[in-house]
Amino acid sequence: RQLVAMKELDKVYGNGTVALSDVNMTINEGEFICFLGPSGCGKSTIFKLIAGLEERTRGDIEILGMSPKEARKQSDIAFVFQDHTLLPWCSVIDNVMLPLKLRGVPKQERLQEAERVLALVGLSDHRKSLPRHLSGGMKMRVSIARALASRPKLLLMDEPFGALDEITRQSLQDELLKIWQQDPSMTVLFVTHNTFEAVYLSTQIVAMTARPGRVSAVLNVDEPFP
Ligand code: ADP
Ligand code: ADP
Repeated sequence: RQLVAMKELDKVYGNGTVALSDVNMTINEGEFICFLGPSGCGKSTIFKLIAGLEERTRGDIEILGMSPKEARKQSDIAFVFQDHTLLPWCSVIDNVMLPLKLRGVPKQERLQEAERVLALVGLSDHRKSLPRHLSGGMKMRVSIARALASRPKLLLMDEPFGALDEITRQSLQDELLKIWQQDPSMTVLFVTHNTFEAVYLSTQIVAMTARPGRVSAVLNVDEPFP
């Protein structure tokens, strides 16, 4: 099933910067797609358009037949960034439950979902900890858990593991692959400029060139390693 369709997509920022030029791409459900390219090639801009955080200048973008904003309203899209946006004064489990709370999910259901996703990332025993008492890898696991709590169809990850040491990054890569494999309907879009990481993780690599923000190739990788 087709999840995302981009047609003749252009993005020109207010200052005249051409971030994307004539991007045509479809993304099927269940893929793990890495966007690979040098800094400034438009990777984050594609994510912002998919998430409905920026308006396109020309062309079309649809997610499950909806506009990006509608898809985001339905919680079909979730984000994970490199810099953790965890609330420092809230415990791990409160951080994970917060998006559900803001959407009015009843408390019992929130707790259940939070326990489910904390188990997925191996942090059940740290539910009461504050973020500052966690390592970088653990904070990243909390961010992933929080994103998964709304059961998104599309998980957008913008260089999530870029600041982690090599060992931690490798375990998180493997954990993320396991989580993705458990849910055949979840699609992961993952920005990286680490070629090895892209090859290791993805079913498809979208290679982007620096100027003027074009997709230069879509490479099919058979299956990720593990
Ligand atoms: P990447 O994520 O691949 O590093 P971006 O999508 O962030 O690339 O940026 C693509 C281009 O658009 C760059 O030249 C960047 O400087 C420019 N750009 C990004 N955001 C803005 C903005 N809000 N206003 C103007 N130019 C921007
Ligand atoms: P409950 O109904 O679950 O008991 P609480 O009011 O005790 O909810 O809040 C649970 C956690 O969520 C607390 O740690 C609180 O600080 C945090 N929280 C609630 N609402 C917000 C908000 N709008 N912004 C930031 N943190 C919030």
